[in-house]
Amino acid sequence: MAKKDYVVVGIDLGATKMLAGVLQGKKVLAAVKAKTDPSGGEREFFATIAATVAKALEEAGVKPSRLAAVGAGCPGVLDYRSDRIVSSANIPFIKDYPLARKLQKLFKVPAAVENDANMGLYGEQQFGAAAGCEHVAGFFLGTGIGGALILDGRLYRGSSGAAGELGHIFVDPLGPACGCGNRGCLEALAGRLALAGEAAALAARGGAPRLMNDAGADVRKLKSGALARAVEAGDKQLKDLVRRKAVLVGLAMANIVNTLDPECVVLGGGLVEAMGDLIVPAAEESMRRHAMPDISAHVTVVPAKLGDLAIVMGAAQWARSKFDA
Ligand SMILES: [Zn+2]
Repeated sequence: MAKKDYVVVGIDLGATKMLAGVLQGKKVLAAVKAKTDPSGGEREFFATIAATVAKALEEAGVKPSRLAAVGAGCPGVLDYRSDRIVSSANIPFIKDYPLARKLQKLFKVPAAVENDANMGLYGEQQFGAAAGCEHVAGFFLGTGIGGALILDGRLYRGSSGAAGELGHIFVDPLGPACGCGNRGCLEALAGRLALAGEAAALAARGGAPRLMNDAGADVRKLKSGALARAVEAGDKQLKDLVRRKAVLVGLAMANIVNTLDPECVVLGGGLVEAMGDLIVPAAEESMRRHAMPDISAHVTVVPAKLGDLAIVMGAAQWARSKFDA
């Protein structure tokens, strides 16, 4: 079979959901979503992965024999020297875990695994908002804040594979506790959970009536979409809160700009998808106010373009380049 007849599958693998996409060249032939539940154990988790990929191949009209490689983006800290995931928040059985080898066994083709934020930025640099850029930093504002770096045209993985944790840039010595064990990280102050916590307090005090009406004051229910709808409907104090969070993101961006001199900073994730018009300009303005002007002058700040498909496309392309598939 000619190389162009083969396909590569990219998987965005999370603790609550996954998305599997079938790529032929740059084209996504099909993408299928599924719920994941790691508490059901390893075997059930892999059964879900197998079924979702099989469904995606079927929807793409592709026989499994045309599958050349699989790539997956997974949350967690990786060690590329041992090709293992050191740990992954919310997936308990992933601890010093050879996920790539397990996927290889499951699909009987070469498999590559990388950190999900790394794959998201790689996807944006290969196919999306940062196409053609050699020096890129990415901030992904979701439940937490993921980050990734591409330097000299290559994904920068550091000495072990854990580089690019931009969500844990330190921004406030008196800041709240972070999931990583430290205090005052960008994620602890400006991730969606942090924003939702403050938004809930605001709603409970009567400062965000639209939000209170629409979604209430339960932090777990204040997803990006609910926050965006309330801002859109006129909750001014909530809008101001979102803007102040974006200013903090801009501060971390300024540190990265001064340190690495990138040509492009990509902002993505659920919060940016829902409120990019508010967040991206506020973060950019803050970055320009805090970074050295001679360096920031040539930096562009762009919203991510590929949405849900960034990690899928990045992981597929990563596997393709790794195995020359
Ligand atoms: Zn942290």
